[in-house]
Order: sequence, then structure tokens, then C-alpha cells
Amino acid sequence: MPTLGNPAGTIAVLQKYNFRFQKKFGQNFLIDPHVLEKIIRAAEVTKDDFVLEIGPGIGTMTQYLAEAAREVLAVEIDRSLLPILEDTLSPYDNVTVLNADILKVDIAEIAREKNEGKPIKVVANLPYYITTPILMGLLESGAPVSSITVMVQKEVADRMAAGPGTKDYGALSLAVQFYAETYLAANVPLNCFMPRPNVGSAVIRLTRREEPPVNVHSQELLFKLIRASFNQRRKTLVNGLNNYAGLSFSKEEIQEALRQMNLSETVRGETLTLSQFAELADRLEKAR
Ligand code: SAM
Repeated sequence: MPTLGNPAGTIAVLQKYNFRFQKKFGQNFLIDPHVLEKIIRAAEVTKDDFVLEIGPGIGTMTQYLAEAAREVLAVEIDRSLLPILEDTLSPYDNVTVLNADILKVDIAEIAREKNEGKPIKVVANLPYYITTPILMGLLESGAPVSSITVMVQKEVADRMAAGPGTKDYGALSLAVQFYAETYLAANVPLNCFMPRPNVGSAVIRLTRREEPPVNVHSQELLFKLIRASFNQRRKTLVNGLNNYAGLSFSKEEIQEALRQMNLSETVRGETLTLSQFAELADRLEKAR
């Protein structure tokens, strides 16, 4: 039975070890069992699964994961949490704690060593200061990861799940949706954490696609166009792309491609779908 995940259990452990929260590590521990259960449900963890947990903290969610999964590897950067984790995870023989920076861990190698190279699930209450590098690293690396279920800042969850024409739609939405299907599982209020964070949170699941949702000749050009389009949001697409340092298409070339796609010359990037960006990339490349 998980013993943490409630205010009393968490305070007891923190006091026993005289633990001091480190802001620089984004430490906000979960203290609400309903939220923990929701995360485990959204992640669809079963006894067949190998789960990578990023940032176990004092082991709150790790206890839930250990009960639901076949095996758990929890990667924690803060050394001072190691004796605590040894204590709180002692009832479980299917959990390993690795003291490392997740951004430096080779996830493909972990899957190879621990899961015969088969896809693993990632579950985490993420340290918010490195949300994007962690998620984009997982998605872009090509490591075998079938799903990523994470607590993130609410605003970031909204951006990842947003569609064209909405205020939250941007380069992050397109980058994430290229690799994964998004599902917003829950909004989580401030009082579910200790200490209380300054921003609202949400749980989002990213399920990795087997195939990209669009065919594009050059993924590199596609992502360059996307970055350029949202770099200067208020500009028209033609001006945004024309002024971007990493691209060398003339206004005429961009206007011609837009005409072929039946799009207005004054269209803004924020209204284009992923498949329109892909078509634009292919047309611009062909025009060369
Ligand atoms: N999982 C715990 C929970 O839900 O109560 C703690 C979550 S807390 C938001 C984020 C955790 O990530 C902290 O334990 C923090 O020390 C750890 N962390 C921060 N940066 C990290 C990094 N680069 N690599 C691994 N863990 C990190």
C-alpha cells in the first residue's frame, strides 16, 4: 500500500530526514491520492510494463507505479533524496533508483537493457524548468517509448494539445503532434502539491504514433518552417519565412507556393495545419 501521497505521510518523511526543498530542481511533491490514481489510470500501466519515472522525489508516485507495473526505473538528480527513496521504496523489489540528470540518460539503452528493446512507458510529475527539453528529447531521440504521461504546467499542456487558429497553437503543438497523439487527462489545482507551486498544473498523455501523421520529404525543412512561422507571430507567413535567418526563400517563391495551395498571401502561420506545413515544405523544396 502506498504510504505517501497525502499531507501527513509526506510531512512525516520530510521531517524524519530534515529534507530541504530545492527550488532549482523544481521540487513540488504530490500530496493528493486522487491525483496519483488518475495519473496511473491515464498512463494505462499494467503488470507487463517497464516504466521510466523522471524525478521520483520522495517516492510518492513511485510507490503507485511499483504496484501497477512489472518494473520501474526512477531517475532522480537530487542526491539528498537517495536515503529517503531507499526507505520509502524498501517494500518494493521491482524498483531501481538511478541518481542522474535525465537529460543525460540514454533512454534507448535503458529500453535495450531492461526491456529487450521493447517500448517503455514514461510517467512523471515533471520538474517544470526542463519540461520541453525532456519531452522533445524523448520524442525526437527515436528511443522506444510508447507513451509519456506527465504532470506539466497547465499552460504548457494547453499548448501541446492546441489546434490551428487557437491562441495556444504554436511550434510546440506542431512538434508534439507530429510525434504523438495528445490526451488531456486532468487539471490539477495548486493545493495538491507541497510546497504549493505558483502555476496551475495538468496531466497530459502523449501516445507515440507508429507513423508520422503527414508525409514530408524533408522533416528538417518542415520544422524550420514551423519555427520560423511562430517566431514572429504577428507577421504574415510570407514575411515571417522571408525574414528568418535559417531559410533562404524569396517572397515570390513563398507567395507562389501559397497560391498553389489556395492560401491567401496574407495568411498567418497560426492558421495552418500540420499537413499544410508539410505541403508547403514540399512545394518550396521542389521549387528550388
Ligand atoms: N515525483 C515526485 C512527486 O510527484 O511528488 C516529485 C516531483 S517534483 C515536481 C520533480 C522531481 O524531479 C524532483 O524530485 C526533482 O529533484 C527531480 N529533478 C529535477 N531535475 C531533474 C533532472 N534533470 N533529472 C532527474 N530528476 C530531476
